[in-house]
Amino acid sequence: MTKFTDLSLDPKVLKAIEETGYETPTPIQAGAIPPALEGKDVLGIAQTGTGKTASFTLPMITMLGRGRARARMPRSLVLAPTRELAAQVAENFDIYAKHTRLTKALLIGGVSFGEQDKLIDKGVDVLIATPGRLLDHFERGKLLLTGVQVMVVDEADRMLDMGFIPDIERIFQLTPFTRQTLFFSATMAPEIERITNTFLHAPVKVEVARQATTSETITQGLVQFTPSRRDRTASEKRTMLREMIKREGEDCTNAIIFCNRKVDVDIVAKSLKKHGLNAEPIHGDLDQSHRTRTLDGFRDGSIRFLVASDVAARGLDIPNVSHVFNFDVPSHSEDYVHRIGRTGRAGRKGTALMIAVPADGKLLDAIENLVKQEIPRLDPPELPKTERRSRRGDRKDREEAPRAKTEDAAETPADTAPEKSAEKGGGRRSRSRSRRGESSNGSQVVGMGDHVPDFILRSFAETKAH
Ligand code: AMP
Repeated sequence: MTKFTDLSLDPKVLKAIEETGYETPTPIQAGAIPPALEGKDVLGIAQTGTGKTASFTLPMITMLGRGRARARMPRSLVLAPTRELAAQVAENFDIYAKHTRLTKALLIGGVSFGEQDKLIDKGVDVLIATPGRLLDHFERGKLLLTGVQVMVVDEADRMLDMGFIPDIERIFQLTPFTRQTLFFSATMAPEIERITNTFLHAPVKVEVARQATTSETITQGLVQFTPSRRDRTASEKRTMLREMIKREGEDCTNAIIFCNRKVDVDIVAKSLKKHGLNAEPIHGDLDQSHRTRTLDGFRDGSIRFLVASDVAARGLDIPNVSHVFNFDVPSHSEDYVHRIGRTGRAGRKGTALMIAVPADGKLLDAIENLVKQEIPRLDPPELPKTERRSRRGDRKDREEAPRAKTEDAAETPADTAPEKSAEKGGGRRSRSRSRRGESSNGSQVVGMGDHVPDFILRSFAETKAH
């Protein structure tokens, strides 16, 4: 088995690794570090959690130890798709370079240009950046990329998803043709293949796991159910989620809960909180300091549930995440691999559970085709009766109303008109909606279409109450 001392790394780097407590290089490290140190281009196909950050930072630090920083001309460049990921690379760099005198700057949105300019003016060895922010700096004329000897592209497949490929191509063209490129992606989409064919020179390909494989330390499960009505899908999924969390009991020390849409991230977090669970949302619309605070809270255990969008949580290295819940089946099948890879990291055990409704059928097929396995089906937890009753007229139903309106109207004509007013109105209207659409014993009023006169449905009890 390869040892770190076999890898020709700078002794200062080896010392830092020893202090970190790593015993042996991970497969991506053992595969990528030697060719990187020989100055070759590397194409690493590896997902997060495999130790890929160190597989490029360790050789970079070793190679950079041989030269000096020059003003406004960074010697190396790491591009990451999100602020969090860039910040995480910077943290890794600080750990592994702590016995060297190398300097770095982190160029991400949400941090003032002034501070970043000062560092660049002085000269940095490593520039870690998101593509857009790097180009902003470049266009302000504060930065020259002609001194870049090593360029790293991390999480290229996510760059593709986020539409950064044109930026990446432009950045490649701004750096010298002779630069060395270390390029990492979890999957090799055709567009990624094209970029690597264009910009990498005879790369050494290091693939640590089959494309898009899921870690064996992660126990997966799928809960499928058919919502009682389409417009109740999300609220019933929230109930299901709580019951699934309950069923995991103490094994679920903490969890990341993924939703496909930012709006649902907020709703799910709010709903969990309302039910007494310690949850916070994280997505791209929250400002940087808020996101950092939330992540810190999740890392130190003061927040138990992190409700997240893919972009915000992508590549985050948070050790000891016991569970991942997919509140939604991800629309890109590769995201399933990334999401569940937040648990079961570095050989630890983890559990990844997903909720699916019949409408998710196609997406689910795509995921199972990609990971080449069937996700084990679990019995749905029993939903509490009280939940079912209290869901009538639940505020959250209104939040779903705009999306579900047409289907709803087709199924239950009597509900259509009040649904419209509920969209605009406050809580009281919503409550009366459910009473108007249902008789006092809860059954639907049928046969009068949209033309039920309002007074017929008005509840006397309610009138008295006001
Ligand atoms: P990454 O894939 O870069 O996000 O790394 C995943 C996790 O593995 C991080 O928590 C690293 O600190 C950890 N790690 C990296 N290299 C090693 C190693 N050789 N041995 C044990 N843990 C490691």
